[in-house]
Amino acid sequence: MNNNNLKYLISRKDNQYEVVIGLEVHAQVTSQSKLFSTSATKFGAEPNTQVSLVDAAFPGMLPVINEFCVKQAIKTGIGLKAKINKRSVFDRKNYFYADLPQGYQISQFKNPIVGEGKVILDMPDGQKEVGIERLHLEQDAGKSIHDLDPQNTFVDLNRSGVALMEIVSKPDLRSPDEVNIYIKKLRSIMRYLGTCDGNMQEGSLRADVNVSVRLKGSKKFGTRCEIKNVNSIKFMQMAIEYEANRQVDLIEEGKTIDQETRLFDTKKNETRSMRSKEDAHDYRYFPDPDLLPLEVSDDFVQKLKSEIPELPDEKKKRFIEKFNLSPYEATILVSDIETSKYFEDVINNSDTKLATNWIIGELFAVLNDKNLEITKSPISAKNLSKLINLIKDGTISGKIAKTIFELMMDGDKDPQKIVEEKGLKQESDPKAIEEIIVKVIKDNPNKVKEYKSGKDKLFGFFMGQVMKISGGKANPQLVNEILKKNL
Ligand code: ADP
Ligand code: MG
Repeated sequence: MNNNNLKYLISRKDNQYEVVIGLEVHAQVTSQSKLFSTSATKFGAEPNTQVSLVDAAFPGMLPVINEFCVKQAIKTGIGLKAKINKRSVFDRKNYFYADLPQGYQISQFKNPIVGEGKVILDMPDGQKEVGIERLHLEQDAGKSIHDLDPQNTFVDLNRSGVALMEIVSKPDLRSPDEVNIYIKKLRSIMRYLGTCDGNMQEGSLRADVNVSVRLKGSKKFGTRCEIKNVNSIKFMQMAIEYEANRQVDLIEEGKTIDQETRLFDTKKNETRSMRSKEDAHDYRYFPDPDLLPLEVSDDFVQKLKSEIPELPDEKKKRFIEKFNLSPYEATILVSDIETSKYFEDVINNSDTKLATNWIIGELFAVLNDKNLEITKSPISAKNLSKLINLIKDGTISGKIAKTIFELMMDGDKDPQKIVEEKGLKQESDPKAIEEIIVKVIKDNPNKVKEYKSGKDKLFGFFMGQVMKISGGKANPQLVNEILKKNL
């Protein structure tokens, strides 16, 4: 539905308009304690059980920077191929929120911890680079709960003070599809790094989506609207569709677009004005006097660099070069670290080409169908590689392998055992196969006559008969050869 909307937008004025998107992603730092206090950050705890006096902003409490969160932000910066700023500053961003007891958020404004970087998108038609403007550290606010009581609003401060990385992209994205791939790539990089779990259901990854439209070919950007706090990729895409259409409509009507902050109503599938866009000076940013500027040494950054694992782009390159995978296959297999590990475990002792096909084909179909992560795969890497070896050495045919694969799912059974128990071993004895062939020829004299008078297609019929009699176990290669000879 929404894709059609966009196509409509692009096509209705002779393909005149282009949508421009920039994202401010809020990624919750994976850390056991908060950015400036020792409170726990575990998701789903009883309300207000993970709140220290610092998080509740009691008078006289002082923030103390959590070194681990700083490391996580720098690692993420390294993963984004970004400039790491040796000196950054924490500022107070002043605003009133019922769930922010301090009355200001500690954030970074002019001097973020991470500067410009980039993310590579693997699009179906090639790669695209999206610029990163900056990454800064800031505190999350608490949560207001409006639906527990008709008269009262409750507040849960568990989230108050949890570390967030705000990752700001340049306005380089041009479609909902690119946004989809961008978010997934960002999430993949952070999961590889272990710096953010990317769990969107739990709110660990959400984004403010900035959208504008302009005539194609125009050098100037249009006025943007910012859609606040969207927490699923689907909703981001729907919000962009709606918003782009709304803006084109306004332009076509000769009206102007107000720069404003909007909300996406997921029930009505529309964006609504929330407030006119505030400017930086409205927040009265100033350096937090309770915190010194954050200075990190070269050694500190260097040490973190040495802890960075092989990331998706590098892994993809290695998979293509070393294992001869297509870019498409490699993109899929590196998309998350567990899948890449599973793949490498399987090919460690089996054929790469077969393994690639079986994982991307059969295994992914099962995981999709059962909605399982690869870490919960009903078939272990060890047993899948055994299955592949059985195919490779001719013990079983590819067709029988599918039957065995189904059986393996019941408790990760050893395929070798299944072959033995069910007698599924491929018949590769030419004598035994020839016996069947002789019988099939004898039983079908008319078909043989037709075949010999030129009806070549009947070869398939004979193949089928032989396979059927053998219970699918005859080695197809051999059947083919011997059948040709005998006919
Ligand atoms: P603010 O805090 O005012 O929202 P930021 O610099 O944090 O400003 O974020 C601005 C975001 O808006 C960036 O992601 C940027 O790419 C995006 N952006 C800027 N101009 C446009 C535009 N004309 N159209 C779409 N996105 C834009
Ligand atoms: Mg913003």
